[in-house]
Amino acid sequence: MSDLLFDAPKTHSIPVEGAGADYPVHRIFCVGRNYAAHAKEMGVEVDREAPFYFTKTPSATTPSGAEIPYPPGTENYHYEMELVLAIGKPVFRADLKTAAEAIFAYGCGLDMTRRDLQLVAREKGRPWDLGKDFEQSGVFAPLIKAEHVSEIGPQRIFLEVNGAVKQDAHLSDLIWKVDEIVSDLSKFYHLGPGDVIMTGTPAGVGPVSAGDKIIGGIDGLGMVSLSITAAE
Ligand code: MN
Repeated sequence: MSDLLFDAPKTHSIPVEGAGADYPVHRIFCVGRNYAAHAKEMGVEVDREAPFYFTKTPSATTPSGAEIPYPPGTENYHYEMELVLAIGKPVFRADLKTAAEAIFAYGCGLDMTRRDLQLVAREKGRPWDLGKDFEQSGVFAPLIKAEHVSEIGPQRIFLEVNGAVKQDAHLSDLIWKVDEIVSDLSKFYHLGPGDVIMTGTPAGVGPVSAGDKIIGGIDGLGMVSLSITAAE
């Protein structure tokens, strides 16, 4: 390899419970509108024809428990509590069984969103990057290996801001199930270790301000938290 003119970018990673090592993040895929009640609150109908995706840059990876400044360029900064998948095997055009077997771990994540910028982009038919892919916009709790998770469905997924419950649903409310998401995404990408998927948020999204503390959780999959400080 040629010498590099600048320092190579840092590898971002997510801790894995009991593994003694981290999961390196290569790509972050996000599923849009995967809970009917959330799609409705966003003023759109759910389309069962196919899921759709957007991405976040891996350097957006932020550990649970972080204190981060209110981000630039927005006046409507939202939380979205999500189930996170981490892929552990190479898969391409995977059937549902192969897709399920490729899931290495599950976890809790926050898809932090500049909602005002996302909605402007949506209305104008522009990409969502400014609204979704920005610094510290992907917050991840330590992952739990899939071998320790019996079934995805009955678990409660919830989020609180300053102790008040804002999102409260169950993973059984997911429109696209975890194996369906991995199978579908593998039609478009060679997925493999390092690929993280945020599976969409339930209803109840809303804004946060400087001084707010967010705590989210999924039964059996731990908790994710984030504190917002004053804008830089
Ligand atoms: Mn989301």
